[in-house]
Amino acid sequence: MTGSPVVLLLEPSGIRRVDPREPQLAVTDWGATRGDGIFESVSVIDGRMPPLDARFDRLEASARALDLPLIDRALWTEALLRSIDAHDPVERLAVTLALTRGVEGGDGTPTAWLLARPARDFTDIRRTGVSAVTLDRGYASDAAEGAPWLLLGAKHLSYATNSAALREASRRGADDVIFTSTDGLALEGPTSSLLVRRGDIVESPSADSGILAGTTQSTAFGFFESRGFTARFAPIRADDLADADAVWLVSSVRQAVAVHTLDGRPLPVDGELTAALNDWLANAARSE
Ligand code: PLP
Repeated sequence: MTGSPVVLLLEPSGIRRVDPREPQLAVTDWGATRGDGIFESVSVIDGRMPPLDARFDRLEASARALDLPLIDRALWTEALLRSIDAHDPVERLAVTLALTRGVEGGDGTPTAWLLARPARDFTDIRRTGVSAVTLDRGYASDAAEGAPWLLLGAKHLSYATNSAALREASRRGADDVIFTSTDGLALEGPTSSLLVRRGDIVESPSADSGILAGTTQSTAFGFFESRGFTARFAPIRADDLADADAVWLVSSVRQAVAVHTLDGRPLPVDGELTAALNDWLANAARSE
């Protein structure tokens, strides 16, 4: 069963459910004309409300970075509950929360909506993994500090460059991308965080290298610690990925996928550890 999407508008007067087949966004919305807004993707498994604190914290950090009003957590939580309730029961729902600067020439009221629809089925890719290429993102790893207007750690709606990178990967015959900084560090994927295992140490680049602070990465650290690994943030040299014991790209809806080939060269894959990590991530999403 898939069911049709549930769309809720969050307006000053409250939450309003609208027809997903009808247009809802003005062509003069700053989100449409400039990608000037922020979003979050929430994975809802078996209709269970996932933990939201880390996600709301990040939405607020994104709002602060873009000088948008801070969000009303209670209202968003209510909207999320209503969307889960209103949607046909499915194993996995992907829910997008979006907030834009509102309409050009308007009174400054942000446009806010929630879209809930069945998640793409990533079961196979979680098992098989992905091939990836490294692509230069064109910034140094300290660019965020000196140029906060680049919005490097914010989850904003301008994902056109991320999509362009994925198309470039496809042109090169690969499934995904690991961005690198001009100073040679591995950063993140266009829609995922990077985890690298070397022996019993699992590392991820820290958010101050101009990347999104991943909620899945944070949950994954808990998994690795529970298994006796040391999990920590550290600068990861792109050149060192080739001899890692494992490389994963992790994100909320797709969860953890192993990178089995990087820039055309094979990487080791531990299928059992990846499956256990994915079970952990799914259980964490169901835990509230
Ligand atoms: N980095 C980027 C650029 C992303 O777009 C995403 C998710 O969309 C992530 C990392 C992973 O974040 P999360 O694990 O919170 O989904």
